[in-house]
Amino acid sequence: MTTDTTAADAVAREDAAVSDAPANAVSDDGIEKLPLQASDTAAKAAVAADHGKRDLVGLSREELGAAMAELGEKPFRVKQVWQWIYNKGVTDFESMTNLSKPLREKLDAHFVIRRPSLPVEQTSEDGTRKWLMRFADGKEAETVYIPDVDEPRGSVCISSQVGCTLTCKFCHTGTQLLVRNLSAAEIVSQFMVARDSYGEWPSPTDESRRLSNVVMMGMGEPLYNYDNVVKALKILVDGDGIALSRRRITLSTSGVVPEMYRLGNDINVNLAVSLHAATDEVRNRIMPINKKYPLAELMKACREYPNVSNARRITFEYVMLKDVNDSDADARALAKLVEGIPCKFNLIPFNPWPGSQFECSSWNRIRKFSDALYDLGFSAPIRMPRGRDILAACGQLKSESERERKSLLKARLAAGIPDEH
Ligand code: SAH
Ligand code: SF4
Repeated sequence: MTTDTTAADAVAREDAAVSDAPANAVSDDGIEKLPLQASDTAAKAAVAADHGKRDLVGLSREELGAAMAELGEKPFRVKQVWQWIYNKGVTDFESMTNLSKPLREKLDAHFVIRRPSLPVEQTSEDGTRKWLMRFADGKEAETVYIPDVDEPRGSVCISSQVGCTLTCKFCHTGTQLLVRNLSAAEIVSQFMVARDSYGEWPSPTDESRRLSNVVMMGMGEPLYNYDNVVKALKILVDGDGIALSRRRITLSTSGVVPEMYRLGNDINVNLAVSLHAATDEVRNRIMPINKKYPLAELMKACREYPNVSNARRITFEYVMLKDVNDSDADARALAKLVEGIPCKFNLIPFNPWPGSQFECSSWNRIRKFSDALYDLGFSAPIRMPRGRDILAACGQLKSESERERKSLLKARLAAGIPDEH
């Protein structure tokens, strides 16, 4: 990468050195680079932005119960408030009409129901919609709605981190600065903003929803922000609120093996794994995390993921890289690798970005690869790029805003001003 990345990384590392919550900080293998908790600084910025009031979004039911108890309120209020926030989607206490006026005023004096601000909302010619969310501390992440081609429903693609801890060679996000983890509130509120945008409140029935599915496939590695992601998913599936079914949520991981086991036990949403290679030799080259959790361990974790069956298969994502992983021999090796795992493949044409060292396989090659897997007994549809015109396709997220951030950093560094974040 360019020197500005190096300079920016230096700033990021310095920033990390003063960060106050290094719980996820790791390792000498160059994989996880920074302390990663949703930083206290971000939380403090959020409280300051609301004049000392606490945001109720993102609290677990227990935490909401404790917050209400502090105000001297009874436990049954928790369900009422929860329904207003997550089922009706209200953002002020005045609308909570089954609460007395004095209680509404008390809530208003202590709490807020926050949404991130929305500097940019863009809709692609193919109907894909992208939101750039700005959080209270000014950090940004992107969320995308991808409508089904045939049906009036679709998936909301949610980010788990600003930037990413990992450095997969084909991924634009992976070349960019890791900024921080997103909090549970910031993860849940991405979905709530999408619902605001389509006016989809109160929570419709499962059959009639437009925003029917959630995929944790945006920026970042969700399993390196495990606690916040699981907390957010538990809020999304709560039947009194947003009430998404677990089978409508898919989490994509690059293969953080220990957390895959935890995920299966804690929430057991559908699993997608960014596989991208059939051998350790190739995977080590393009996904550094493979050196830490090689294919044998990854496949074991997939085999042992709870409740996987032919009706509920693991998805293996596979980015098509010309002359790297796209031969018929690769397809045969893949079939052998995943033997016995109820699974399907999802072939993703590589989305190039400036400076990327790969090319996308030819259309003909992708078709042949898909056919080869099909002949070996696997479903292997090709994921057609969506929303490319608004930079919403796989691997493109955050590119523009990150570039802006980099030039800002470069300018600051040139002027000898340290980055305030
Ligand atoms: N960090 C998680 C979630 C991101 S999901 C993970 O890696 O699984 C986004 C998907 O897009 C992943 O499968 C990722 O490998 C893939 N991807 C990344 N860069 C890409 C690119 N340039 N072209 C196509 N797919 C890409
Ligand atoms: Fe991070 Fe996933 Fe991109 Fe790898 S592919 S750098 S894990 S976002």
